[in-house]
Amino acid sequence: MSIEFSGGMADDERIVSSRALQNDEADNSLRPKSIAEYIGQTKAKENLSVFIEAAKRRGEPLDHTLLYGPPGLGKTTLANIIANEMGVNIRITSGPAIEKAGDLAALLTNLAENDILFIDEIHRLNRSVEEILYPAMEDYALDIIIGKGPSARSIRLDLPKFTLIGATTRAGQMTAPLRDRFGVMLRLELYQPEELCRIVTRSAQILEISCEPDGAMEVARRSRGTPRIANRLLRRVRDFAQVRADGIITQPVADQALLALEVDALGLDNIDRRMLASIIRNYDGGPVGLETLAATINEEAVTLEDVCEPYLMQIGFLTRTPRGRCVTLRAYDHLGLAPAEHQQPGQDQMHF
Ligand code: ADP
Repeated sequence: MSIEFSGGMADDERIVSSRALQNDEADNSLRPKSIAEYIGQTKAKENLSVFIEAAKRRGEPLDHTLLYGPPGLGKTTLANIIANEMGVNIRITSGPAIEKAGDLAALLTNLAENDILFIDEIHRLNRSVEEILYPAMEDYALDIIIGKGPSARSIRLDLPKFTLIGATTRAGQMTAPLRDRFGVMLRLELYQPEELCRIVTRSAQILEISCEPDGAMEVARRSRGTPRIANRLLRRVRDFAQVRADGIITQPVADQALLALEVDALGLDNIDRRMLASIIRNYDGGPVGLETLAATINEEAVTLEDVCEPYLMQIGFLTRTPRGRCVTLRAYDHLGLAPAEHQQPGQDQMHF
């Protein structure tokens, strides 16, 4: 597989994009419905079970909850599960979809007691909308201004007690006043291959795909820690198995299919490889600033940061330093590139 790939590719064209793509809609049948069905994320699940049980016993809504972590790890799924476990309704929206303060006011006033309002990408709420949320979260109240100029006055409208569940890929970009109003913050981690293997096996059963255990493991290993990618690769590998093999996903079939899709043995695709190769070739292994790097390889910085980096850091290919991004010796090895002679092992970009 070549690492020379000059054209830019939008993240939503990548088979290993962790963002939801159009064809992923069928995913709904794959979404676990209860905590027991939800695989992995043990720590978050344990905490959440306690909070849910306690809120139920008190007959109160769950505290406002913030779920954060890279895309495709199951934040929306978990919000739906919380609603199921609490036995309440959930309204789903997203930060960019709420344009005006009035849109949010309409959503809030339509909630019933104990309902859940789920706001995906909550870091993208605009400021005027966000300010409506503060009294709503804290006092279950809406402050509405009536009239203009000197005769304007503010009236307070009571809201039902509700739970706000916010999801974000970037908790750091949220304003402190909003972040501080969440009673519960749960960080979702990238999944281990064994957990993803269980997810692939479960999905294969639901979709009635024949998949051998080592075939499932091969898909899992190449899904960069992300259930959404695992489910997507499973479908593509099934196509391959049906056309080029006897319909059964074995390890060699999965391997060939994923190679054909240019997903390498560790789940890296062209963007990842270009990113790493560019740091090595153009910046001597780093450090290089994110914006500079993004411009060099003609990608969006946010794609590199949200989608490529979490996984490259987890597998130890990339480090973030105050001076920028650096690749590690492992990345050189994986790409088959030799470190430049003047770089001695032991320099900070060469951690093992
Ligand atoms: P996010 O909101 O974090 O972007 P989603 O909740 O939409 O991610 O999850 C993406 C897909 O991955 C879901 O459709 C679901 O099928 C699958 N998924 C996520 N987490 C799990 C899990 N823990 N167990 C099984 N499947 C999961």
